[in-house]
Amino acid sequence: MTVIDLRSDTVTQPTAGMRDAMAHAPLGDDVYGEDPSVNKLESWLSQRLGFAAALFVPTGTMSNLLALMAHCERGDEYIVGQQAHTYKYEGGGAAVLGSIQPQPLDNQADGSLDLNQVVAAIKADDFHFARTRLLALENTMQGKVLSLDYLAAARKLTREKGLGLHLDGARLYNAAIKLGVDAREIARHFDSVSVCLSKGLGAPIGSVLCGSGEFIAKARRLRKMVGGGMRQAGSIAAAGLYALEHQVERLADDHANAAFLGKALGELGFDVEPVQTNMVYVQIGDRAEQLKAFCAERKIVLSAAPRLRMVTHLDASAAQMEQVVAAFAEFGSR
Ligand SMILES: *Cc1c(COP(=O)(O)O)cnc(C)c1O
Repeated sequence: MTVIDLRSDTVTQPTAGMRDAMAHAPLGDDVYGEDPSVNKLESWLSQRLGFAAALFVPTGTMSNLLALMAHCERGDEYIVGQQAHTYKYEGGGAAVLGSIQPQPLDNQADGSLDLNQVVAAIKADDFHFARTRLLALENTMQGKVLSLDYLAAARKLTREKGLGLHLDGARLYNAAIKLGVDAREIARHFDSVSVCLSKGLGAPIGSVLCGSGEFIAKARRLRKMVGGGMRQAGSIAAAGLYALEHQVERLADDHANAAFLGKALGELGFDVEPVQTNMVYVQIGDRAEQLKAFCAERKIVLSAAPRLRMVTHLDASAAQMEQVVAAFAEFGSR
């Protein structure tokens, strides 16, 4: 019986085709700008998303950090959601390494930030205040998709107020698949977009930051500074490019599996949040540790959280979803 790991969509193994692409990738020293596979990935993605340039980095955390530091100087401020990855889950890097002050706002139920609250949070030009320079959004946000109308409104507002607009698009392609649009339709509203290759796309490592030529030149300098200048990185870039070329459309399967799981658990009496993409949130309360241990005995790996997150991915099949439902049925909703 194989293990079913639903902790995150980061747990996937490279597919056979991906390993093959990695093994045969042409390589060079990327700090000299001479790795053909890295260069190909950067130009491929920047063109598809409608940007002038892109930068390959080892992690989404580094990608977001470089973006924040390229948009903001020391003592500047960025507006961000309380639940945003850049604010909550990146060790405070923008503040620690960039001397950038976050101005967090509560996320709305749909994952967005209330644009009236954003306007109210923008500080006046006064030497008492940090300079508000940037709005950072996330899409998908805990599995929720921001609407294209909302993105257009955020773009309009940031233009009027002279702010930059960054997207943590770790799961940009999940959002695009859910909306049924080309990812470019989402990306076009932003000055910069960070995309993770190592989440649902199934690459072992890597993210790409996209933006203008000037912005990416600045980010490239910062990447070297934080130790992210890699050498023959083409073998991992090739995995990322393979993922983008072959493993985007199949995200719809992950969404279908998550929808099935959410519906079935709801029918068993569990308190399940509405499922939009590849994440299922269930209120488990004080039985979280118990459920984790119960499922572990059945080779199902879960996190232990009162608000349990289960994430579908390319190594979790439809048949396995039925096994998970059976385990939950046995455990009982109360
Ligand atoms: C995973 C994730 C990141 C960071 O990616 P790492 O590669 O783990 O550093 C950033 N933003 C969001 C929304 C993520 O889910």
